[in-house]
Amino acid sequence: MKPRWPAPAAPVAARSRPGFPVKLPAQPAMPQARPGGTVARGGPMPASSGVGMDSQAVRFAMVRKLEAQGVRDPGVLQALRTVERHRFVDSALANQAYEDTSLPIGLGQTISKPNVVARMLELLCHGQPQPLGRVLEIGTGCGYQAALLSHLSREVYSIERLRGLHERARENLRGMRLSNLHLLFGDGMLGFARGAPYAAIIAAAGGEDLPAAWVDQLAVGGRLVAPAVSRAGQQHLVVIDKTPSGLVRTELEAVLFVPLKSGVA
Ligand code: SAH
Repeated sequence: MKPRWPAPAAPVAARSRPGFPVKLPAQPAMPQARPGGTVARGGPMPASSGVGMDSQAVRFAMVRKLEAQGVRDPGVLQALRTVERHRFVDSALANQAYEDTSLPIGLGQTISKPNVVARMLELLCHGQPQPLGRVLEIGTGCGYQAALLSHLSREVYSIERLRGLHERARENLRGMRLSNLHLLFGDGMLGFARGAPYAAIIAAAGGEDLPAAWVDQLAVGGRLVAPAVSRAGQQHLVVIDKTPSGLVRTELEAVLFVPLKSGVA
């Protein structure tokens, strides 16, 4: 099905950048040498990556553990089997890519633990038929969750406020041929009105409260999943369902996400 709205020509905060949304050109068949002597991510897994010759076996083992921890959604499990997490972290950390641990992705940010990612995606899908419609992600980071979302949704808009990470995500995703994934550089607190309304909105950074723009840009029948600081002053996962009769807010378990910040850098 085609999106009801044409893909936007430029994101709000990146009008000077031609060619948005980012096109993800095909990756070269072989890894490219970088000046620093490391190997570009995106090609066949380098032998030095530390995850062994067959990352699939390690990844499937990670998914079996997630299943044992209670992750049930078949679409989420399949996406986790498909997306190669080791391609999204520094090669020095690739041997930890399939452990249930958060990892640094640069510029003081982290990629969430797989079980937190799985939990949030399950909440987002909540038994709805997949693919979901248009989805907005705030906090692209390294692009891992964006890649998972592209397998679960018709169209994904993912916004990152740090240019360095936005560029890194673009590089990480190059060659994965996720043509329904659009990377945007901008302040995700404003959402992305040109893609609205969204069937689902997910944030990987938590602030004092949920920006009004997110709720405004959510479709009726849609769901928002994000960390937010609760009345008790602790960060919790929050789910907002926009029903025909109004908003239903559910506060779930305590979590620890990086802060949601305004503006770009
Ligand atoms: N889903 C990401 C997680 C990245 S951590 C992944 O798979 O890697 C959260 C990200 O949110 C950080 O990169 C941070 O820079 C970004 N962020 C924080 N506030 C933001 C905002 N207002 N708009 C867009 N991105 C934001």
